[in-house]
Order: sequence, then C-alpha cells, then structure tokens
Amino acid sequence: MTTTYAVLSEGLEKSYGEVRALRGLDLAVPEGTICGLLGPNGAGKTTAVRILTTLTAPTAGRALVAGHDVTRAPGAVRRSIGVTGQYASVDGDLTGRENLRLFARLAGLRGAAGRARADELLERFELTEAADRTASTWSGGMRRRLDLAAGLLARPRVLFLDEPTTGLDPAARDRIWTAVQELAGRSGGGGGTTVLLTTQYLEEADRLADDIVVVDGGRAVATGTPAELKSRIGSHAEVTVTHPDALTGAAAVLDRLTGGRPVLNGERLTVGVTVSDTGLTLPRIIRALDTAGIPVTDATLRPPTLDEVFLRLTRVREVAPEKEHAA
Ligand code: ATP
Repeated sequence: MTTTYAVLSEGLEKSYGEVRALRGLDLAVPEGTICGLLGPNGAGKTTAVRILTTLTAPTAGRALVAGHDVTRAPGAVRRSIGVTGQYASVDGDLTGRENLRLFARLAGLRGAAGRARADELLERFELTEAADRTASTWSGGMRRRLDLAAGLLARPRVLFLDEPTTGLDPAARDRIWTAVQELAGRSGGGGGTTVLLTTQYLEEADRLADDIVVVDGGRAVATGTPAELKSRIGSHAEVTVTHPDALTGAAAVLDRLTGGRPVLNGERLTVGVTVSDTGLTLPRIIRALDTAGIPVTDATLRPPTLDEVFLRLTRVREVAPEKEHAA
C-alpha cells in the first residue's frame, strides 16, 4: 500500500537576511495522522508553518500540502487547510454562534449551509448551551474550542494547530485534546483530518502525535513515534538519598556506571541520569551504591519522559555547530 502524504517538504530553507530560520527541513506527514512539531524557541517551527500555510515563501526547497505546491498553487493549498492559532481569533462582542457564522461566510459557506455547519460544530465542541452569549463572557477553554471549530468550518484536509492549549487549565486542555483526537479519527466521530501540531508541551505531543519531528536549528534532528524517540535515548535512572551530603557520592557512582551526566536535585535529594546501556539493572545500581556506602531511600529505572528525550536531542544539536566549525 502506498502512503499518501498530506504534508511533504524537501530541503525547505528560509533566510531572513543573515538569519537562516530553516536550513533544509524535510517533513513527511501521512494523511489522517497527527504530527507534532517540537523544538526550542527559535528552532524554526513557526517559519515552517508560515511557509506551509502560504503566508511566506521559502527561500529554497519545496513543499506540498494536500498534494498542492505551496509556491505554485497557494490558492489550492489555502482551500485545503484550516489554521488555528494560540491567539484566539474570536470577536468578544459577538456571540459564539455569530462568530462561527461570520467565519463560515469568510470560508465561503453561505446561507443555510453555513448556519447548519456552524450549529453542527457548536454541538460537537459542546458549546451549544453558551452559543448565544457574547464570547467575551466565555472562559479561555471555550474560546479556544470556538477557535478550533472556526478552523474546521470548511472541512479542511489538513489542520494546522499552533500551540492550541497554551495557558489553558488541565481540564480545558483535556477537552481540546479529545477534540483533536476525534478529528484524526482516533475515537470515532468521523476523523480523517491530518493535523500538524506545534507545541511547547511535550506531554501534549506525547498524548496526541502519531509521529514527532524534533526541529532544532532549522532542521529535523529526530523523527519517530513518541515510543521510538524514547527508546532511542535509553532509560532513566533516579535515586533518592537520605542526606544532601550523599548527593555527590551518588552522582559519582551513577556517572561511573552509566557514563551519563547525572543531574542533582538538592531539594528532592535525587540524582537522575540517562542510561543507554540496556544491560544495566536496578539491582546493579543499588549494589554499587551500597558498596560505596551511600544510603538511599528510593531507586527507579524507567523509560525516559519525552521532556528528557527533547532535552537530550536538542542539547546534541547545540554542540554540533562547533564540531562543524572544527572540521
Ligand atoms: P518559538 O518557539 O519561539 O515560536 P520557532 O521555532 O517558531 O520559535 P521561528 O519563529 O520560526 O522559531 O524562528 C526561527 C528563527 O528565525 C529565529 O532565529 C527568529 O528570530 C528568526 N525569524 C523568524 N521570523 C523572522 C522575521 N520575520 N525576520 C527576521 N527573523 C525572523
């Protein structure tokens, strides 16, 4: 079976004067999946999204969205996509329903068809009850859901979600996540929309994304499912000592065992380290600490969190340019 890609980019480059925001970004997002674009500040995520949504032209390389070239057929790309941002485009003076009807007209859905689609989306995002109150009285989570609904009015094949839950409380975040999962067909409710999600929350990418692309320095530095990325950097060991004086001793033992870079936490009395040696077991760690006379109250060996993966992958990139210079 051949895979159809909803978003495909090859060697995408973008320079702003001296600044090379993108330096050959390759993306391949299969149709109907959720791709999480992760990266530290300034990595190039927003620039990539701006190119893919036809808001700015690439300096080099090419990109196809829903099969259309962003440079040669920007109109066709725009008709295939929905874009929702972290800054809700909702007008506070209008009611929820009026907002959606306005967006429907802007999306080319006129008359009864536009009204019906607006009502359908209000229902879907559990906004029907509040629909006739002005949006200024709505909570942040409700406004964000309205923004998401607006992005879906024209049934886009590809939805760009730029930091959809920044600033929301956990319950509101959870409702957005469920809505996004439904869009891509995870839990019934239609589905089939391809989602390109940029987020600062690794937990969000972990929960939603089929594939994650870690962007750093304008390039993809790692691509894979959340599980693949985690397994690539090994597991994480953490020990809790009984007294602050024992922290450095425990770090020395873990350093010797793993060759990693132990991180000390004086408040929690823990030492944590990434373990790439799959043969290292918890009993071995405990025995080594015991032999060194370091008393511990707790010790764990677990898969890394996506935060740890992210820090590791992007830290690797930070040192790479120096190596390039040296070569
Ligand atoms: P953040 O997470 O902070 O939003 P990002 O990954 O989205 O970061 P971009 O906004 O794409 O990163 O920025 C990539 C680089 O390009 C940065 O160095 C930024 O300063 C630069 N840049 C972005 N837009 C412009 C512009 N219009 N003019 C000049 N430089 C720009």
